[in-house]
Amino acid sequence: MKPAILLKGITILPMTQPEDLLEGDLMVRHGRIAYLGPSRNWEDEEGLEVYQGENKVAIPGFVNAHTHLGMTFLRGFADDMDLHTWLVDKIWPMETKLQPGDVYSFSLLGALELIAAGVTTFADMYWSMDEAARVVTECGIRASLSQALIVTGKDHPERYLEDGLRFALENRGAAEGRITTMLAPHAVYTCPPAFLKLVREAAMREGLGLHIHLSETQKEVEDCRSAYGATPPGLLQKLGLFELPILAIHCIWPEEGDFPILAQARGVVHCPTSNLKIAAGISPVTELLSSGINLALGTDGACSNNRLEMLQEIKTAAILAKARTGDPKALPAFQALQMATLGGARALGLEDQIGALEVGKQADIAIFDFDAPHLTPCFDPYSHLAYAALPSDVTAVMVQGRWLYKDRRFLTLDRQSVQQETVERVEKLMSR
Ligand SMILES: [Zn+2]
Repeated sequence: MKPAILLKGITILPMTQPEDLLEGDLMVRHGRIAYLGPSRNWEDEEGLEVYQGENKVAIPGFVNAHTHLGMTFLRGFADDMDLHTWLVDKIWPMETKLQPGDVYSFSLLGALELIAAGVTTFADMYWSMDEAARVVTECGIRASLSQALIVTGKDHPERYLEDGLRFALENRGAAEGRITTMLAPHAVYTCPPAFLKLVREAAMREGLGLHIHLSETQKEVEDCRSAYGATPPGLLQKLGLFELPILAIHCIWPEEGDFPILAQARGVVHCPTSNLKIAAGISPVTELLSSGINLALGTDGACSNNRLEMLQEIKTAAILAKARTGDPKALPAFQALQMATLGGARALGLEDQIGALEVGKQADIAIFDFDAPHLTPCFDPYSHLAYAALPSDVTAVMVQGRWLYKDRRFLTLDRQSVQQETVERVEKLMSR
């Protein structure tokens, strides 16, 4: 049984409304938040672990709503090139060299990075997802996992769908409920309409959502228009895919008619650093928000970002929205932080479980240490988290009321052996 944990005398940012910020206690029992409010006398509690909250700030763990975790092995391998060259000439040939056990090892490395930066949930689309599921089970993080489906030019595309579906059904609800699953048709340029229809049928039948890259580049939109007479969101709408819960990644180039279509998605995931680095464009975030679209934040993979932590995405999203609109009031600190927490939870259909600190919700919590020069003085913790904090300010992280990271030490992973294993595996992979 998990012990009760009391975060005592701590600054709590529930991320529900800005004014809900409070100084007080947060009690975790049976993996859930049991109390949140003014400090009390808890002396009579048996077996209670007390965590002293002086100078500490507790927030809901970040949701990285789009990544390719196993790609950590290619960080720094191919930078400063356009999406097409990067993907087709550099990334895909290396990924064909992956062997059993590689994605496990590289995902462990990614998990270290996520946990230490306060990310408690990630949405992943990659290969060999059984290995990623093993990582989630072992290290205690939470994830929405889906096997990437890339079938253009391949024989028997239905086989890829079968395997993606097998993975989704076998792993749905695994790891004490921390794993949820989706189907992941990679994009409209890697999955033709006939295949997308098969995906739709399977997802409908099994009650699964979809994780898909959408309108990432102007070229993607132009090609889609000339091939199918519709924008990427328009094509999915025509094929009936928006009848399913959709996690739509990027959406940098929506046309006017796309906004009402995207409003049906469970979430659009803004990945500002990756978008800027590949020069894919700048997402019209303020227009998406004002169209009633739920926005989440993601990093994308480690070789297009090149980090997996969320503070960079929060700050970049906020300042980019201001620069793009010429309005410094665009995407204020609280709203950007909410995209990385509650917005992400909604995008994954998990808002009744995570994304905010509320009694009854899962205890997925990141704790920042504000005893640092760059966080002194503190007029507004939302401002500090959005604009000044560093991932290294995260001092403790729990998921389902279990510490994964405490006093900046990993409790479920051996950092050194994971890093060493990665180096050895990458050497072998590069020589294949
Ligand atoms: Zn991606």
